[in-house]
Amino acid sequence: MRVVHSPLELQKLLKAEEGSIGFVPTMGALHLGHRTLIDTAKKENDITVVSIFVNPTQFLAGEDLDAYPRKEEADKKICELSGVDYLFYPSAESMYGEDEVSLNAPNVRGYIMEGTSRPGHFSGVLTVVNKLLNIVKPTKAYFGKKDAQQLMLIEMMVANLFMDVEIVPMDTVREKDGLAMSSRNAYLNDKERQESLNIIKSLRIATQMVMRKECSSVEVREAMLEALAPLEVEYVTIVNRAFEPIEKVEIGNTIILVEAISGSTRLLDNIWI
Ligand code: AMP
Repeated sequence: MRVVHSPLELQKLLKAEEGSIGFVPTMGALHLGHRTLIDTAKKENDITVVSIFVNPTQFLAGEDLDAYPRKEEADKKICELSGVDYLFYPSAESMYGEDEVSLNAPNVRGYIMEGTSRPGHFSGVLTVVNKLLNIVKPTKAYFGKKDAQQLMLIEMMVANLFMDVEIVPMDTVREKDGLAMSSRNAYLNDKERQESLNIIKSLRIATQMVMRKECSSVEVREAMLEALAPLEVEYVTIVNRAFEPIEKVEIGNTIILVEAISGSTRLLDNIWI
């Protein structure tokens, strides 16, 4: 495995490679969720590239940019054992300059749900993913459905800017008890960890409701809010696969998304019905 820090050097090295490139962008503190993406990229491509970059432009002032878990040595080992060919580990200075061209998230779909509590977050995400895709020029890039709004916006960016890459959505990997794996789970103490299970509980209740009978979004949302207490709920939103709010849950075309705060940790989860 080659560890590369410079964007231009990685671009040069990958240009010289033949065959398909699978790319997994991450912020590190790798867990089984990331590893599933990496294993799939490895299986489906000739060359596998993983990036680890805690992207400053997607954190708002006062968020956890400095505290975000960084596990350089463990992450390197995981990538090496997973058979990654190139690990891209850039510095913020090598990725960003002064007074730059950047991308704006769409005015509606970039500023609802997580975009409401974190205005500007998705502009930072799109800008960095755009840079990373331009550096790596992958055949396929792998993203988790856990970050459903991010995935949708990246798919939009690729379509809107006519980018030549296949985005591969990957199912959410969970702990045995159902909590969606996340690097931020490390922030939770025992009590918060226990309470955070209300998120999967609420999503399971929603699934059972809609499988039993036709349900309105209002009914489902109310039942979920009850199950989520005492967590602080940022949103429970029910949309179709185009991310438009819907009044009735339609099996095969619905995503139910939750963002809740346990202690001071923001947790995201969703279910595709
Ligand atoms: P992050 O390092 O949190 O930015 O995540 C990097 C990529 O891994 C993103 O595409 C995430 O959606 C994906 N990911 C994070 N957690 C999970 C999970 N539990 N299951 C599947 N994919 C995940």
